[in-house]
Amino acid sequence: MPHSPSAPSPVDAGSKVERRRAFLAECRPATRRIHAPIVDLTGARGHLNPRGLGHARAFSDLGSLGQSSVGFDTLADYEAADEAGRAPYGGAEYGVVQSPEAEAVCTKFARLHGGVGAIVCGSGLAAIATVLDAFAPKVILIPDGIYFPAWRYMSEANLAETGRAALLTYPAGASGAEVGALIREAGRTFAPGETMIYLEAPASGTFEIPDIAGIVDEARRAGIRTVMDNTWGSHVRFRPLDHGIGIAIQATTKYEGGYGDTPSGVAVARDEADLARLRRQLRIGGHGAVSPQTCTRLFHRVDSAESRLARHEAAAASLMRWFEGKAVTADILSPARAASPHHARFRQYFGAGNSLFTVVFDEGLPVGRIHAFVDALLLFRVAESWGGHVSLVLPVHPRRDPASLPKGAMFRFNAGLEEADDLIADLDQAARAALP
Ligand SMILES: *Cc1c(COP(=O)(O)O)cnc(C)c1O
Repeated sequence: MPHSPSAPSPVDAGSKVERRRAFLAECRPATRRIHAPIVDLTGARGHLNPRGLGHARAFSDLGSLGQSSVGFDTLADYEAADEAGRAPYGGAEYGVVQSPEAEAVCTKFARLHGGVGAIVCGSGLAAIATVLDAFAPKVILIPDGIYFPAWRYMSEANLAETGRAALLTYPAGASGAEVGALIREAGRTFAPGETMIYLEAPASGTFEIPDIAGIVDEARRAGIRTVMDNTWGSHVRFRPLDHGIGIAIQATTKYEGGYGDTPSGVAVARDEADLARLRRQLRIGGHGAVSPQTCTRLFHRVDSAESRLARHEAAAASLMRWFEGKAVTADILSPARAASPHHARFRQYFGAGNSLFTVVFDEGLPVGRIHAFVDALLLFRVAESWGGHVSLVLPVHPRRDPASLPKGAMFRFNAGLEEADDLIADLDQAARAALP
């Protein structure tokens, strides 16, 4: 039930803001900086960042402020630009397609991923949709741990319903041979050019890792295009194109922007023909309208992604150690843990972790206790998305065969950029209040 502004939630508007303020007064400076000013969720309509931040500044003397019209001195100049899709002074002939700021972001991401070029879209999901529509596969091989909205796009919104794509599902931790068998199954009905292999690793929420090299090998032998959602890794932990994958997709909403204020996504292509198809589809679908302010943030923030990731990783490791010592913890899902069945592949491909892990609570623990624990947390916010400065928590509900899933309730944590000791103190106080 949404709370109406006139009847603020009793938990957050009053007592919880006060409790949060008192808790933060005892925290270290880095934590206080991240949570200042203390946002009252009702007043801010749930936004974690304070209002009115960062009014668009010109990116450079040539930077646009997000204008739809691009002017030409002569009709002939315009007609040539319309034909080529490019203005003589760079960028598109129509401002919604690609601003100079967007172009700068694309150039930067292409370099970061070792690709020939990139597109930037208004969200990570829009980047996924643009890639799917650009190649319009008739069959897509997908992992069962796929980011749910990507699955929904494939299965509901568009491709499957119109009879354009069948989906064949492989386990998120599949071997190359398992995917090879699916490739042969697809091959009975579809040509290689009609087939796409879609990877996402580690899997959303549960973090299994497939045999990426084995899958790419099978795909290459069969002449099938590969696409990878690399949001978990970002270019810092994994560069898909270096591993023979054709298109790398990043929800730059997450680590590249890093502060929850850059809704956007990029797709980087390894070859020119693919890039041309992506650019064409960007225009067809209208997904290229990304605000220059978002692009400007992204352009600069991506430079600190590596150091932020190291800090996120260290905080997540501390939090996981805290959960390891608790009787209520049945398991912790993270390939960065030596105990994880995916740890060998994690070391092979990613080498280091990030902010995410999922706690599986003991089956015997009443769900009400877990909810009380989550509600008692003062630094961790209940919120979707991840990869930002604020620590977050959210239940995980994978939509797949329950037999392949752990039994207890699962909650995904995003370790933010606060001081890890303050986050631990928050877990301690919530546990004292709510856990047996
Ligand atoms: C968040 C996310 C996306 C989509 O990003 P949005 O910008 O929120 O649309 C795609 N893939 C993965 C794995 C994600 O976690």
